[in-house]
Amino acid sequence: LNVRYAMKACPSAAIVRILNRLGLHIDASSDFEAHRAMQAGVPAEHIQITAQQLPADLEELVQQGVLFNACSLAQLRRFGRLFKGGEVGVRFNPGLGSGHINRTNVGGPSASFGIWHEYLDQVLEIQRQYELNITRLHSHIGSGSDPEVWQRCARLTLDIAAQVPNAHTVNPGPGYMVGCMAGETSTELQPGGPRVGAQVERVQRERVRSVRWGMESGQ
Ligand SMILES: *Cc1c(COP(=O)(O)O)cnc(C)c1O
Repeated sequence: LNVRYAMKACPSAAIVRILNRLGLHIDASSDFEAHRAMQAGVPAEHIQITAQQLPADLEELVQQGVLFNACSLAQLRRFGRLFKGGEVGVRFNPGLGSGHINRTNVGGPSASFGIWHEYLDQVLEIQRQYELNITRLHSHIGSGSDPEVWQRCARLTLDIAAQVPNAHTVNPGPGYMVGCMAGETSTELQPGGPRVGAQVERVQRERVRSVRWGMESGQ
């Protein structure tokens, strides 16, 4: 299991230091956050950037050891041009989303996050062209509390992973809803957990490949 703190939730150095000490890695949603985490003492290799906007200094950051998660075909191509043969992650939009309001629903046809799942062929084409090593797959769809949707997302992302030759980490990157106000429901992970575990085992069996599981919470 690979756990990241989505530091946009609270990027204060004091908080980032505590979570770093506890062994969490960092999900940075911009180059600024990556720099901020490093200034707080987080090792570059523990930071993964998943950003709508391509970091201006992507080349320097990756050279320092920061991991990059491509969120569009254009970002993947740009990474390939900079780092032929390099290791990279890909964020997919698996075709469905889950959010308690529309603004926190970041999957499905109306969301701009991640590469639409039907473009997998184009991802693999870019991979071949630049000899990329796609090892991490990601599909943050939102922090809604519907375990059924989360399970489906996990399955869809695992199915994509099964088709990407070197993928070893699958991160259906929630966002788990934590009820803070009256009427808000917290996500119950226990009911769906074993079923998702079974899906992971299925992919491992069918593909004879071990899969690491990732999660990233900000809430
Ligand atoms: C914001 C974000 C998260 C965390 O979501 P929360 O709803 O704040 O828990 C995880 N992954 C990515 C890529 C994000 O942008």
